[in-house]
Amino acid sequence: MNTLEQKRHFDAIIEKIERARIRVSEHHIVKIVAASKYVEADAIRDLYAIGQRAFGENKVQDLKLKADLLNELPLEWHFIGTLQKNKINQLLTVRPHMIHSIDSLDLALALQERLFREKQTLRALVQVNSAYEESKSGFTPEEFLDRYAQITSECPNLHLQGIMSIGAHTDDRNVVKKSFETTRSLFDKLSNATTCSMGMSNDFELAIECGSNLVRLGSILFKQ
Ligand SMILES: *Cc1c(COP(=O)(O)O)cnc(C)c1O
Repeated sequence: MNTLEQKRHFDAIIEKIERARIRVSEHHIVKIVAASKYVEADAIRDLYAIGQRAFGENKVQDLKLKADLLNELPLEWHFIGTLQKNKINQLLTVRPHMIHSIDSLDLALALQERLFREKQTLRALVQVNSAYEESKSGFTPEEFLDRYAQITSECPNLHLQGIMSIGAHTDDRNVVKKSFETTRSLFDKLSNATTCSMGMSNDFELAIECGSNLVRLGSILFKQ
């Protein structure tokens, strides 16, 4: 796609987000994080040029590489993948804006220890496996609120901002909707939380209608 085509395509996606969020409320603001794992630094630069600022990567090495290459741009980096404990140090060198994927107490405690030592803080979301899928990380909806409270009290250098979830992996919209509603109802029980991160290329409009205020879009932006 040339720049004009890319801008038109991006505008069409923003239009869809606009229509979905207005169905919730005029005051319901939705943020886009561009999941850039499919592309290299140049494609990120192109999307930046037409206005996108927040990008998400799911592998620490890729995040580090792209953040270094694009160092001169004021990008906001999100880490959205499963984090292995042996990658924590490398992740922290990037100073990401937020990590979406706190999926165990063990990981939260390991991050806390490293953050404390480095005198850093990090915004974080706690991941819930609302679809109850084996293949997905995250706490079960039943344990989520207790673990969230525990991480809040035991990990003061992790600044919890809310919840992240991946919608059910099925074509049955009702099942996907139910998983989003589960996530949103947990989000509503948190005090001081600002971010409900759910919705990807295949299901972002439904996610927004269920209350998402941050969508992580990859293939729809980069694989056209
Ligand atoms: C890749 C990825 C996305 C974006 O997925 P698409 O279906 O390509 O939009 C969102 N969230 C996470 C955690 C991802 O790894």
